[in-house]
Amino acid sequence: MNILAIGAHPDDIELDCAGTLAKYVKAGHKVFLATATSGNIGSATHSMEEIARIRKAEAAKSAAILGAEYICLDYDDEMFFDSREARMKFINLVRYCRADVILTHNETDYNPDHELTSKIVNDIAVMIPIAHLKTDSPPYPVIPKIFYFESAHGLGFVPNHYVDITDVYEIKREMLACHESQFLWMRDNYAETDDAGDLFGLMEITARYRGMQCGVKYAEGFIRANDAHRVTPTRVLPE
Ligand SMILES: [Zn+2]
Repeated sequence: MNILAIGAHPDDIELDCAGTLAKYVKAGHKVFLATATSGNIGSATHSMEEIARIRKAEAAKSAAILGAEYICLDYDDEMFFDSREARMKFINLVRYCRADVILTHNETDYNPDHELTSKIVNDIAVMIPIAHLKTDSPPYPVIPKIFYFESAHGLGFVPNHYVDITDVYEIKREMLACHESQFLWMRDNYAETDDAGDLFGLMEITARYRGMQCGVKYAEGFIRANDAHRVTPTRVLPE
């Protein structure tokens, strides 16, 4: 199968589903990582152009750990809005990857870029095979299955699917470590919050908590999109 993870910002995928992507790769599936935005406000010292370039390089380095391609749709961080153009870009992305499965943000989350990414992904899934919606990449006759990953800090998120990532947790850590620019940014920008800059702590707590829920050391949790054409009788996530 072809698996596409779509986050709003560089580092979202690593925090919320990189372990599952690593499991897919181990099982012989092809994986793509994409973000809607370049994360171009994620610095107080670099220009927007500079930080976009830095963050895209970090995301590509992280994807390379899985031998995967990284694609950025280059929307502005926190200024990403729904439009015909955005939907066509998402359709083209999914077609380019010929995705069978998409992992993306939960429908409700703290950040508007996260929620809009989730909404557009689920809305366009049924449009992938439609020939009259023309994009550079051709349509293919599949409606991808969608799984929503963890919302920020796990708030309001009750998984109904779990993936044991204990044996690939180090790969997930290594991928997050590629996003060096964000450790400084989180520390400076969120200095007043309890978890300022501690992305590894957030990753560890979340994976251990979801692991506890399903009886393993580390896990990632998902909610399956429960809409027509997205449901199958068999498990789609890796064992
Ligand atoms: Zn984000």
